[in-house]
Amino acid sequence: MLPSPEQYAAMLDGAAAGGYAFPAINVTSSQTLNAAMQGFAEAGSDGIVQVTVGGARYLAGAAHDALTGARALASLGHELAARYPVAIALHTDHCPPEHADAFLRPLLSASRERRARGERPLFHSHMFDGSTLPLDQNLEVSAELLDQCRALDIVLEIECGVVGGEEDGIGDEATASDRLYTTPEDLMRVAGALGTGERGRYLLAATFGNVHGLYAPGHVQLRPEILGAGQDALAQTHAGARFLYVFHGSSGSSPEDLRAAVAYGVVKVNLDSEAQYAFTRAAAGHMFAHYDGVLAVDGGVGDKRAYDPRAWGAEAEGAMAARVAQACEQLGSAGRSIAA
Ligand SMILES: [Zn+2]
Repeated sequence: MLPSPEQYAAMLDGAAAGGYAFPAINVTSSQTLNAAMQGFAEAGSDGIVQVTVGGARYLAGAAHDALTGARALASLGHELAARYPVAIALHTDHCPPEHADAFLRPLLSASRERRARGERPLFHSHMFDGSTLPLDQNLEVSAELLDQCRALDIVLEIECGVVGGEEDGIGDEATASDRLYTTPEDLMRVAGALGTGERGRYLLAATFGNVHGLYAPGHVQLRPEILGAGQDALAQTHAGARFLYVFHGSSGSSPEDLRAAVAYGVVKVNLDSEAQYAFTRAAAGHMFAHYDGVLAVDGGVGDKRAYDPRAWGAEAEGAMAARVAQACEQLGSAGRSIAA
C-alpha cells in the first residue's frame, strides 16, 4: 500500500516509540524499485524507497533530467506500491543547494498542484542536504523548506554535519575527519531553528562518523553515542522531545553499531551499496552460470531463456530483495507493518 501522510507519520512514530528503524533503499530503475518492495513484503515490514538526484537522472533515460526521473519514479511507486501488503513510502535522497531550484522545489510545486486537486503529495518526504553550507545558512534554507513541506503534509529530511565518502557525485573522500562528527551544540541549533516537530515534522541526518560506500572493516569509526548525547541535550531544554535521526552510509556497519544507532533514536537507515552489490552479484552469477546462453558463442544463437533481461533480472531482484529483508530483520521493522 501507498501510505497516506498520516500513515507515514504513524510509521515514523511507531519506529521512534518501538525502538526500531526502517531501511530506506536507494533505487534507480523499475527493477530495483520492485526488488526493494519485494524485500519489504517478504519481511512483513513497511519501508522507504528513495532516489538520489543522480539516480533520478539515470531513471529519466535520454531525457537526462532528474526532475523527470523523480516524477516517473513517483508514478511507478504510486501504481505499484498499491499492490503490496506493506506500506511503502517514497522519498528523495540528498538534494544539495545547487539542485534545489531544479529538483526539490519543482517537486514541491508538483505536490502542491496535486494537493489542490485533492490528491496525495508526489513523495512522502524529501531530503535537503545543506551540509556544504555554513550551518546557519543550511538551517535558514531548511526552515523555509520545512514551512513548505508542512503545508503539503510532506516530511523534510535535513543534514547536520557531513557524511563522508562519495555518493552519486555528492561529497568527496577527503572530508576532514572532525566534520564527520556533529556536536550537541550544532544539534541544539537545529532544534532552535526548526523546532522539535511543532513547526513541521523533520528527519535529521546527524553525522557520527558515517561514510557513504562500502569499505573494508576498520575503515569507518562510528560513534553512535554522539546521537545519544544529542538526545540528552535536547531533553534538557525540550522535555519529552526526541530527534528522529537518519543513518546515512550504513553499508558495512557492524550489527552492534546499527543496534546502538537505533537505540539512540535512528528511525531511517539508508542502504545503497550493499543492495546494489546484491543485485549485481546475482546478475553476474547468472552470466557466469549461463555463459553459453547469454552469449552467442562460436556462431551460435544463445538461449533466449538465459538472455531475456527478465531471466537474470528476476535473479538480481530476488537477491536484492533478500538483502532488503535482512535489513528489516536487523533493524527490527520486520513483522511490524501498519498494514497488517
Ligand atoms: Zn546519504
